[in-house]
Amino acid sequence: MDRTAESGTSTTTPEQAQHEQQQREQEVIASLPTGLFVGGDWVTTAATMPVEDPATGAELCQVADADPGEAGAALDAAADAQAEWAATAPRKRSEILAKAYDLLLADTERLALIMTLEMGKPLAESRGEVAYAAEFLRWFAEEAVRIDGGHMIAPAGGSRFLISKQPVGPSLLITPWNFPMAMGARKIAPAIAAGCTSVIKPAAETPLSTLALVDILVQAGLPAGVVNVVTTSDADGVMRPMILDPRSRKLSFTGSTKVGKLLLESCAQTVMRTSMELGGNAPFLVFDDADLDAAVAGAMAAKMRNIGQACTAANRILVQRPVAAEFADRLTAKLQELPMGRGTEDGVVVGPLITAAAVTKVTDLVADAVERGATVRTGGTPVDRPGHFYPATVLTGVPADAEMCHAEIFGPVAAITEFDTEEEGIAMANDTPYGLVSYAFTRDLARTIRVSEALEAGMVGINQGVVSNPAAPFGGIKESGLGREGGLVGIDEFLSIKYVGISV
Ligand code: NAP
Repeated sequence: MDRTAESGTSTTTPEQAQHEQQQREQEVIASLPTGLFVGGDWVTTAATMPVEDPATGAELCQVADADPGEAGAALDAAADAQAEWAATAPRKRSEILAKAYDLLLADTERLALIMTLEMGKPLAESRGEVAYAAEFLRWFAEEAVRIDGGHMIAPAGGSRFLISKQPVGPSLLITPWNFPMAMGARKIAPAIAAGCTSVIKPAAETPLSTLALVDILVQAGLPAGVVNVVTTSDADGVMRPMILDPRSRKLSFTGSTKVGKLLLESCAQTVMRTSMELGGNAPFLVFDDADLDAAVAGAMAAKMRNIGQACTAANRILVQRPVAAEFADRLTAKLQELPMGRGTEDGVVVGPLITAAAVTKVTDLVADAVERGATVRTGGTPVDRPGHFYPATVLTGVPADAEMCHAEIFGPVAAITEFDTEEEGIAMANDTPYGLVSYAFTRDLARTIRVSEALEAGMVGINQGVVSNPAAPFGGIKESGLGREGGLVGIDEFLSIKYVGISV
């Protein structure tokens, strides 16, 4: 008799389980295309570049490393396909996106594992990002058939105005490593829906999720040339000629403000349309009337999502003095119990940061804050283990002149500062050149309205620590960017308005 079956226990040893996990990871990586995707074909390049697992530093695979010449073919393909794609029925474009939505969701486990392997976030978060990416496909499948226009009589009579929207044309899409699939889907989906062809360049650290996404769009029936992918270790050398090429009519960029400003200068040469989703420095305000349980839960979400590596991460946690000590105690208690490890391990919440340089940056920011008077409540020093790990950290009494109040921390460090009055809290919140998102926790309705109107940000979360939603217009003001992604206006970023005056 099979005693294992009888007792219900498993005979799998930890070594076997590890071996099976390694095999599964190798199979999943081997399932991916690794070339450039140009005009409907996967093509190899003379050079390749490694993709690494940030939890171990081990190489996962090699992908194409395009030089400017090899990459230029992708823009040729996008330009060649533009007219036919623009003429494709909106319903057809919508159906391809809807089919890709189904395929993506059905493939969640494989795609989540790919994302965790190349970027490090825990599997649960990667599954969430696959769902988030899929929602952009669904949202823009619905928007593709609702591109509308207008008609009016000229105020003086005698003429009619016909207002229509047309695809802006071949678009360049550049994405960061922190949300490697969702940021791609947030650009590719509206471009497809609007009738634009595109060339997408994912971040060098995380090309695999984009390759997997485009592979699925192809399975969903996307015609050749509509989306092209370029992977490269020479972002500037490859993208600059494409940006300066007059056939490119749009740049949609998500990344740092520093690179965004450089790209805007290049785009000025051809007066190219741009969408710029740039850096943030989100203030997270907790007023003395807040529900502290909700505020702590919100801070956990706003701080720990993506191991703190999000443009929307709570960068400065500003707490009104009467509740500051209790808030800090509760947040510290929650953060210090979060399991750290490789994102593939069960229950892990604190995965690795993306690179060794990221750990150094966070370490330096914490040291600077402590030197200026901040107190470490938990964490505060890098972990001695392979991979790029930094522990969940709480600092209190972070002074306004600490460097971390002005830079994006991009790590699991909660920086708490106290304030006294509502006016002071708002002034501190707005004391930044960034304006992506702000959060505020209060149970007072009048204060909710005052504060949300006064906060200088493109998005405000009231009593919630996450604002991202494909149905909402995502984007910032000030140095956080230009334009909006998602929501009812998201497709407009890829459409040009044409007015036709008709004499009657
Ligand atoms: P990054 O260094 O600005 O890179 C973003 C993308 O731009 C990458 O694909 C990068 O390629 C590429 N790039 C870099 N230099 C370039 C150049 N000269 N010409 C063309 N492309 C170039 O940013 P990151 O470190 O990947 O991402 C983190 C930043 O993104 C943070 O500032 C974060 O706040 C921001 N972000 C903003 C949003 C938003 O929606 N507002 C969302 C997510 C992230 P390589 O990888 O090859 O360098």
